[in-house]
Amino acid sequence: METKRLNLDEESLNCAADILKGGGIVAIPTETVYGLAASALDKEALSKVFAAKGRPQDNPLIVHIDSLEMLKKIAVNIPEKAFLCAEKFWPGPLTMVLESSGFVCSEVSAGLSTVAVRMPSDSVARAVIEKSGLPLAAPSANASGSPSPTSPFHVLDDLDGKIDAVIMGENCRVGVESTVISVTKDGARLLRPGAVTLEMLKEIFPDIAVDKAILSQPEKDEKVASPGMKYKHYAPKTALYLVNSSSKAFCEFVNKENAVAVCFKEEAKNIKGKTYVYGEEENEEAMAQSLFAVLRTLDKENIEKAYVHAPKKQGVGLAVYNRLIRACAFRVIDL
Ligand code: AMP
Ligand code: MG
Repeated sequence: METKRLNLDEESLNCAADILKGGGIVAIPTETVYGLAASALDKEALSKVFAAKGRPQDNPLIVHIDSLEMLKKIAVNIPEKAFLCAEKFWPGPLTMVLESSGFVCSEVSAGLSTVAVRMPSDSVARAVIEKSGLPLAAPSANASGSPSPTSPFHVLDDLDGKIDAVIMGENCRVGVESTVISVTKDGARLLRPGAVTLEMLKEIFPDIAVDKAILSQPEKDEKVASPGMKYKHYAPKTALYLVNSSSKAFCEFVNKENAVAVCFKEEAKNIKGKTYVYGEEENEEAMAQSLFAVLRTLDKENIEKAYVHAPKKQGVGLAVYNRLIRACAFRVIDL
């Protein structure tokens, strides 16, 4: 199939909405990463999403909405604190896993009794939801297992010819996927860290639980709360090693190994070999923004092996660390 390139003008966004209403699949920009959207009410459209991405059938999708009315149709027994989160963090990069009403197709939830819902803040994403009038299931618009796309060109690298259209929008502001929490009457659990940070969530849920799969590899056959966490994710072909250390120790280590380094801006001048900069040491937001593009560049340049200087596990740094530990297939070096 020919994948249409759509612009950001009114006519193009109407075209995207029409494709979605007709059961097609369209990659759209959001503030987190590009999403591959389909109607959450159309079984066949959803099966196209799983097929185009090569996504395992048991990995559920996030439904993107633009109103609390839509939320109330999709979820039931919504705890009061979930509404508080919506008030504080929506529209924005927070996904809530809630009890499903059965309104969206069961394929969205991959057989679970829950449904994941988010209201994005990106104006293009919102326009497409509004124009289609549909709740849109939209996983990241990459081939399953490769780094998530933060530009329309990343989408085309993975999915050109496999999807109906892509909106040629800007690079994503956040750069890593949304924070995912499950919310029940008993409290909340962080399933995936993102730009709505653990510190921010603690203001609403002082006792929020943190799923251990965030920073460690689930055992084989272990049941995980968020099915996506059991898959090797975000991984380039390059063999990556995540290094926890001071800046000085990291530079000495990669110089001794004569290795390629994925590092912070301040460090590059102290490293003898090839470097790929993914932000500044004290700016976790900038790391998140450039992380996936850097991982994709490593592959394009056929880098066989590289050492990545790990961020601090705080603020958005926790999300960056969570993606990196998977990109590194859990190979961690503590210096
Ligand atoms: P992606 O679409 O690539 O952003 O991935 C969506 C993430 O949300 C995956 O890690 C899923 O496992 C998780 N997710 C979606 N729906 C649910 C759900 N009902 N319960 C738990 N996790 C979910
Ligand atoms: Mg994904």
